Amino acid sequence: MNNRFISVLSALLFTALAVNIVHAKSDNFSTQQLSQVESIKKDALESDLAWSLVESLTTEVGPRMPGTPSDKAAVAWAVAKFNAMGFDKVWTEPATFPKWIRYSESAAIVSPSPQKLHITALGNSISTPKAGIQAEVIEFETLAELESAPENAAKGKIVFINYRMNRDRDGNGYGPAVQARRSGAIVSAQKGAVGYVMRSVSTAHHRFAHTGGSHYKDGVTKIVSSAISNADADQLHRLIALGKPVSININVQAKSMGEGTSYNVIGEFTGSELPNEHVLIGGHLDSWDLGTGALDDGAGVALTMAAAKLARSKGQTKRSIRVVLFAAEEFGLWGAKAYVKANKKRLNNIVAAAESDFGAGRIWAFESNVHANSLPVVRDIASMMKSLNVEYIGKNAARGGPDLIPFRPFKIPAFGLEQDGTDYFDYHHTADDTLDKIDPANLRQNVATYAVFAYMAANAKTRIIGKNLLTK
Ligand SMILES: [Zn+2]
Repeated sequence: MNNRFISVLSALLFTALAVNIVHAKSDNFSTQQLSQVESIKKDALESDLAWSLVESLTTEVGPRMPGTPSDKAAVAWAVAKFNAMGFDKVWTEPATFPKWIRYSESAAIVSPSPQKLHITALGNSISTPKAGIQAEVIEFETLAELESAPENAAKGKIVFINYRMNRDRDGNGYGPAVQARRSGAIVSAQKGAVGYVMRSVSTAHHRFAHTGGSHYKDGVTKIVSSAISNADADQLHRLIALGKPVSININVQAKSMGEGTSYNVIGEFTGSELPNEHVLIGGHLDSWDLGTGALDDGAGVALTMAAAKLARSKGQTKRSIRVVLFAAEEFGLWGAKAYVKANKKRLNNIVAAAESDFGAGRIWAFESNVHANSLPVVRDIASMMKSLNVEYIGKNAARGGPDLIPFRPFKIPAFGLEQDGTDYFDYHHTADDTLDKIDPANLRQNVATYAVFAYMAANAKTRIIGKNLLTK
């Protein structure tokens, strides 16, 4: 079946489900509010607002690497869109970060079977000399295997870690795989290597290499840090397995540019009764430079902006709804860290927070992380998501998106609106992260779910509280 047909079919199905639901009474919401939720859901499932936003962002702005002119254009884009959408307050807050840019990269097997490799520099990588570096490759299956190798095991060689990431709906393969990206160059240098290349943090079969943040450590020699596509990693592995020495050339030209500045962009619909208390939803505005950052995280930006607008469409909500588009997430959560620092005294005003940063797949589950006293409200919200095929996990242990990590010490009420990420790591951080990978029907289902969440958390009779409050 083609996507368009599936879109039409699922839109019809949702509409049919939405109109047939009869709701039980709730202590937290009036009957009128519950019928407004149904109406918002229906509108969201017919709305192309999120699509038009992500289309505009990825087309008119394109890639949004922190600190570049395109990133600046994205900030201006977000301010203009928030204003055009009628948000009551729109503002920016600065964030600084170590700036890095890529010029070029290439690689090839030099011997015994010369051929091109599809490679990307990892974020923060140093440059090689202009002619590149050339050396014999030594392969390890995992970062742990490299760590336990003897001193000088990789002396004068290029380390190749060939760890295969597993595919799963919840993306649990990413955590174990990403360690080799973050610190592979450090450990390789400690074992005497002159360069580092890894199999992409990826579940794909295509020939795109996946970039992403990497680090160096003071006192350890900096060596080039790079990743090849999975198909190229398989090829290299087969060649090495034949037993002859395999030499490759890697040429990366990139530069650290000192401190860069960007901005969190914030749009708020002001609440009628408790304007200081607010729901916080959002995504990150920046992206890597290889693709156009459609899945990561143009979708999250667009769907939370659209959801806030729909949640406000029945009139002012009791509490405010705030959309935060975080800066410089890809370089290390710099916007989120700056937000927490600048708003530390006001974090207790957050009644519910959720970040969308896992692509644009359907939301299949809802999870909370709140004080036990707030679980009845959470269950009411979850019950209104059922017709969207969203189940409540109920462990009350949501982690929130990456930009909510700096909020964790404050134990704000965090939520996970869990997307199906089965194919997310086929595209993540590649040149192939483009608009065509977003399914419009799935995007609308995301908007509907976020709109239900924002409307209900903003209007609940008693506010949702986090585990930081009323606990001993
Ligand atoms: Zn992201």
